[in-house]
Order: sequence, then structure tokens, then C-alpha cells
Amino acid sequence: MSTLEIRDLKVSVKLPEGELKPILDGVNLTVDSGQTHAIMGPNGSGKSTLAYSIAGHPKYQITGGSVTLDGEDVLAMSVDERARAGLFLAMQYPVEVPGVSVANFLRTAKTAIDGEAPKLRTWGGELRGAMERLQMDPAFAQRNVNEGFSGGEKKRHEIVQLELLKPKIAILDETDSGLDVDALRVVSEGVNRVRDTGDTGLLLITHYTRILRYIKPDFVHVFVAGRIVEQGGPELADKLEESGYERYVAGAGAAR
Ligand code: ADP
Ligand code: MG
Ligand code: MG
Repeated sequence: MSTLEIRDLKVSVKLPEGELKPILDGVNLTVDSGQTHAIMGPNGSGKSTLAYSIAGHPKYQITGGSVTLDGEDVLAMSVDERARAGLFLAMQYPVEVPGVSVANFLRTAKTAIDGEAPKLRTWGGELRGAMERLQMDPAFAQRNVNEGFSGGEKKRHEIVQLELLKPKIAILDETDSGLDVDALRVVSEGVNRVRDTGDTGLLLITHYTRILRYIKPDFVHVFVAGRIVEQGGPELADKLEESGYERYVAGAGAAR
């Protein structure tokens, strides 16, 4: 089993003028492989900042606390090392990788993470199978990564990566945004397949409750003004669907 442990994490964003704007205000969270956690909160509460910080994005400066994966200091690792350690971070706005096809990108990523190239004999089939399960055209494998991808294609590509790379812990930021109902179902089924292997810990970050109708989290965390303000089981998501974030935001605003 693997454990991602976030302890009292404090993060500021670096503004263009060089100033630091504090965003994360002491985040505590433990995700074990095999568990599914949902982080839910209003826009601007710092959810993506949490994901980017764990991913090692240079715009975000850690000002306190720790992030470890099985006791190893994630914050001291390069971005590549984080991936090799078993962290998967699907970003809300994935970048384009000019001139690199989906097929090559996936094979390179798999090689980097496993420390050896995947077996040619089985890899093609694995890739085709993963794409088929996500109802993607096989021609998609020859497109350049993220170049002109629709919102739905980006999300499907994320889930194909997740299925093939088999990370210990995966952080999915707004995987539901911009998906129509059919795409949301296909993508959710993909996440559930990964969940059902029991080998991956999932941290689903979302503004809306709708994806949680398809993917049942074991734990729900309400995230407001840079910190977790309430935790519970799946019933907490239902409560949020009814009452929204209003009552949390009022309290957090006064405290900030
Ligand atoms: P969420 O994902 O919950 O909507 P974000 O983490 O994207 O929240 O943003 C949290 C806060 O940090 C917002 O006030 C946002 O404007 C600010 N912020 C995040 N990233 C940057 C950035 N690169 N430059 C300036 N402000 C940022
Ligand atoms: Mg946002
Ligand atoms: Mg966000």
C-alpha cells in the first residue's frame, strides 16, 4: 500500500511583480492507495493550487508544511521524479506538447515511470484496449498531444494515461468540467476501473457534485479559502448539492 500525506501545507502564488500571494492556509490530508477522496469547494478556493503544488509547478511557492509519498519528500523531487515515484497529476489545463504523438508520449511516459520500455508485444494491445474502453478513435493515437484537443478528448486522454501508467496516487483536477453527459459517463467509468483495481489512490478535485453521481468517493473534503473546513463520507456531497458552499464561505471570509 502507498500513502500520500499532506501536512499543514502552506503555499503562495508568485505574482508577475514578484510578490507572493498566500493561497493554501494549512492543508492536511492523507490518501492511501485504494481510497477515493473528493475535494470540493467554490471557485478560487485554491483547489488547483493544491494540485499544482503537489505537481511541482514553478509558479507556486511552498511556504510551510510537507508532502510525502510513502515517507519520501515529494516537494524535494523534480517533476519527473514525482511521476517516477508514482504520482499522477492531470492538470486542469493540460499543456500542448508540439510534435509528439499521443502514442509516443504514452510510451515515453510509461518507460520513464517503469524504468524500462514496455514490451512491444503487449504494449500496442494495451494502448488500443485503453482507447477503445474510452470510446476513442484509434487514429487519435497519431495526433499531437493536446494540439487542438476538445475538452472531452483531453479528459479521455487523461484517463487513458491513468489506465496505462498505473500510478500509486492520482490527482484529477476538474475532470468533469466541460464534459457532456455521455463523455462524463465514459470518463467516470474509466476512473472507476482504475479505482476498482484497488492499487491507486484517487484525489478528485471538483467544483460540481455531478461527477460524484458516477464515482462514489470514500471521503469528501470541503475546501474553502485555502483549507479543508469539513470532512465526511459520500453523504457530504449530497448535502453540498442541496445547500452549496454558502455557509462555509461566510465563515471563512470572516476568518481571512
Ligand atoms: P480553484 O481551483 O479552487 O478555483 P485556484 O487554485 O485556481 O482555485 O485559485 C486560488 C486563488 O489563487 C484565486 O484567487 C486565484 O486567482 C489565485 N491564483 C491561482 N493561481 C494564480 C496565478 N498563477 N496568478 C495569480 N493568482 C493566482
Ligand atoms: Mg477555478
Ligand atoms: Mg481549479
